[in-house]
Amino acid sequence: MWNPLAKTLVIGLAAALATTPLTACGNTGQSESEATEQTATEGATNTTEAEGTEAASVDGAWYNDVPRQSWNQFEKVETSDPWFSVYKLPGNVYAIDEDSQWEEIISYLIIGKDKAVLLDTGMGISSIKKTVDELTDLPVTVVLSHTHHDHMGGMHEFDDLLVFDSKESIEAATTGVDEFGDISYEVATEDGVFNPDRPLPEGFSPDGFHVIGKEPTGTLHDGDTIDLGERTLEVMATPGHTADGITLFDAENKLVFTGDAYYPADLYAYNEEADLSVYAKSMHDMADHAKELGVEWIYPGHNETVKGVEILAEVAADMDAILSGEATEFELGEDGYRYYSFDHDVSIITQDLDFAKLDEAA
Ligand SMILES: [Zn+2]
Ligand SMILES: [Zn+2]
Repeated sequence: MWNPLAKTLVIGLAAALATTPLTACGNTGQSESEATEQTATEGATNTTEAEGTEAASVDGAWYNDVPRQSWNQFEKVETSDPWFSVYKLPGNVYAIDEDSQWEEIISYLIIGKDKAVLLDTGMGISSIKKTVDELTDLPVTVVLSHTHHDHMGGMHEFDDLLVFDSKESIEAATTGVDEFGDISYEVATEDGVFNPDRPLPEGFSPDGFHVIGKEPTGTLHDGDTIDLGERTLEVMATPGHTADGITLFDAENKLVFTGDAYYPADLYAYNEEADLSVYAKSMHDMADHAKELGVEWIYPGHNETVKGVEILAEVAADMDAILSGEATEFELGEDGYRYYSFDHDVSIITQDLDFAKLDEAA
């Protein structure tokens, strides 16, 4: 989705409203095109059928699939806050799955000997720090995979925050999403955004929902490493979904944390900052580096977890096919986007240049 930077968002929101239903970055429960009947929750398996933002809600809804299949194979960890579902994953990682809200964002607590990294912080609807504190006594550094609002919600609760080193990224984190960056659709109860089995956290009110800003305490660059004590995370810049996207590689445990650069659902490559050729290069870079390091498993940013790493090369090839014109089959949504579907359950949504030209001419 768009950059949650307040100013950009106002402009982006106006543009978005003019052309397309609202979409969230990570998972959107509600972007869909009437023409294609696509529902672009970032979970490929999300089946919310929306007619538009107003009617976005639905029975049949995403929460009927919770917990999604991939979670069942892992040990569930009991914590005191039912808002998050916590799982212990291979490689000394806790997945904090915010499956009470339709973004179904997954934050990962990566445990080292001396400290831990919390990759992303969810929506900010319930305190993620409270849950993190129940899982580790180590000092925790927050790393943002990118600065979309669904990943920044709880960052203000922590002392240490690292973001990609760009002016936009630093500004987005520092600003948060204020009253000008309307993300009220994320908490619009009538739209079925909440899992009805989970009570809203005490004290939370959807009125005036926003993301509290936090000035980063440090920045990350392509090739940086983060030392957690007997565990090292390598940073790769992976622009495409956003310009400030990063991916973390953990060679020792054969893991890659992709944030929204890859998740098993519709991949958004239509925003101003989500350039498909850049995105394709990142996908190749991720696939190649994963191969070099012997990485086997993807821990993605939404919906399902622990995917085989081979999908990265497949998605990269899909993106190449779109760019080369070899992929000719797509559905054109009334929103002006092309919806490409590929065999291995991947959908990629791009801008439609012809449509944009027609739109300009009109
Ligand atoms: Zn995103
Ligand atoms: Zn996201």
